[in-house]
Amino acid sequence: MSHSSHPPGFNPIRRDRLQQEAVHDSYKSKGKLPEPTVCPDCGAVYHSGRWQWLEKPQAAHSETCPACHRTRDRFPAGHVFLGGPFLAKHEAEVLQLIKHHETREKAEHPMQRIMDIEKTERGYQVTTTDIHLARGIGDALHHAYQGQLDFHYNPEQNLLRVSWMH
Ligand SMILES: [Zn+2]
Repeated sequence: MSHSSHPPGFNPIRRDRLQQEAVHDSYKSKGKLPEPTVCPDCGAVYHSGRWQWLEKPQAAHSETCPACHRTRDRFPAGHVFLGGPFLAKHEAEVLQLIKHHETREKAEHPMQRIMDIEKTERGYQVTTTDIHLARGIGDALHHAYQGQLDFHYNPEQNLLRVSWMH
């Protein structure tokens, strides 16, 4: 079954392995950020070693966060490929679940955002700023509807491709 082809550097990975592999996304960050730092694009605040939604501090450094960098560069960390007859029949419901999942995750984890949801020949492609969100979307779909869930991970660049076929 080759429902999606994977570019070089991507290997199949079991979900439980992925948990251990996932590292902090340092996309375009030049080493350790001073605290507090505020992203001028989205207003997220870097505090206690992570990006959070906080009230803007009085005196803060300014640096674009990894999620905004990825969005601007159009370079997603996660891809979720959706396809199959079940999807075709329940498109609206499935997309609703995905957006709902993102809203909840983003509220707590500012770096976890959907970049794009595009219709493809086979179904949909969802791109994310963080691999955890891509994995979470795959898990949420599988939990709600079952189907075939696969993960391919690129350890060099910390990129994840999730395929959900149903
Ligand atoms: Zn930002």
